[in-house]
Amino acid sequence: MLVTDLHHFLDLPEDVPGPARRLAAHLGNIVRAGTAGDANTLWVSALPCRRRPAHRQCSGRIAIVRPEPPAPIQWRCSVCDDEGIVTNWEDSPYDLRRRRLTVAGDVNEIAISDKTAAALRELALLDPDCERLVFGMRAHRGGATLSVTDDDLDELIGFVAADANHEPNRRRQQRLDAAFEALNTAAETGSGW
Ligand SMILES: [Zn+2]
Repeated sequence: MLVTDLHHFLDLPEDVPGPARRLAAHLGNIVRAGTAGDANTLWVSALPCRRRPAHRQCSGRIAIVRPEPPAPIQWRCSVCDDEGIVTNWEDSPYDLRRRRLTVAGDVNEIAISDKTAAALRELALLDPDCERLVFGMRAHRGGATLSVTDDDLDELIGFVAADANHEPNRRRQQRLDAAFEALNTAAETGSGW
């Protein structure tokens, strides 16, 4: 059981070694997913497991329960025995709990691939509402489902397009372009695969 205090992983210096940086990213994603989803309910997010047994990525997804603060967020892999708790998550930059009530339209469940899901998690220009959609994605048959209204999806597609336009790295830009195509297809057909 990995017990971590999120405050120790915020604002890490530039020269922090790779493993610490990857753990910080993993914990940040767990807190974002935990606070994007419902409280006090165990659910399986679309976040991949960080373990690589025998140099192959574990196929598990991260199941999360987020109680009311100050209780820690609990997480575990759906396949291997990787698990932990994160304390001190509330009011951190990764805390995506809603601050106000919003009026939602009809919500559609949209199936996307793991690749598209990963590209969405990398988006740099997301606002908290879009971040909540991305980190609220659930595991679904080797991919993910996004729960979005038509307006949400339009906004998300706008963010992907804007990020792709600003992206200097060609490989990343190609990933974003592919995600853009997938979301546009999803907007028309309900599935981005
Ligand atoms: Zn695992």
